[in-house]
Amino acid sequence: MSEHNRSFKRVVLKLSGEALREVGSQDNISPEIVGRIALEIKAAHASGIEIAIVVGGGNFWRGASASARGMDRATADYVGMMATVMNALAVQSALEVEGVPCVVQSAIEMKNVAEPFIRRKASRHLSDGRVVIFAAGTGSPFFSTDTTSALRASEMGACAILKATMVDGVYNADPKKDPDAVRYEQVSFRRCLSDQLAVMDSTAFSLCMDNNVPIIVFDLNEHGNITKAIEGEEIGTIVCNED
Ligand code: UDP
Repeated sequence: MSEHNRSFKRVVLKLSGEALREVGSQDNISPEIVGRIALEIKAAHASGIEIAIVVGGGNFWRGASASARGMDRATADYVGMMATVMNALAVQSALEVEGVPCVVQSAIEMKNVAEPFIRRKASRHLSDGRVVIFAAGTGSPFFSTDTTSALRASEMGACAILKATMVDGVYNADPKKDPDAVRYEQVSFRRCLSDQLAVMDSTAFSLCMDNNVPIIVFDLNEHGNITKAIEGEEIGTIVCNED
């Protein structure tokens, strides 16, 4: 096994907002899909891994798109952060239905529905076996929830970020355009930069690279993958400091 031996004790799972929506549906959140995700998290949680979750908000709103259509960017980003809170509450509810102890911490104070983000308290919740869902991104506009996951993973001392996506890993070329594209099992941050392989936005990516936080990119749509990723099975692509 490599030094990233994938037996993670504490991980940050990044769920994009789109992961919670059913393709083609008008509903922004599908309770059925969120329920299935909760079941997968429950299975991994039962094996004793400390799980923090960062949820996106793209199923409701993206600040950059609204800003491109004339809205003030900072305000649009605050709307986006509110969207992540809605998603966080939906994920919390589904986890609680499954009997998984769970806390939402929001980077924008919203005391009636979530704890405020307090790093040491979040870390304590994780050590005590509660899943922690980080809502409202970093609390600042001009950032993304990918950057939030890089930040929270660094703060929480997580072994890795598990990025659930619509593709099954990182390829050496765009697999939609190039039939010969090959998926990496492991690829370095440096190669991603030199070959312009987009894994996360540049702010998120450099935070991971500078703080040596590996990113596991895996296919969210394959049943069981969230459990596998959390439990450290070798799926998708690991992006780390070595090729
Ligand atoms: N956002 C922000 N600051 C943050 C995190 C998110 O302003 O620290 C806003 C931003 O407008 C973003 C939206 O929240 O477009 C939703 O987050 P994101 O696009 O990362 O969600 P995802 O694509 O993962 O669903």
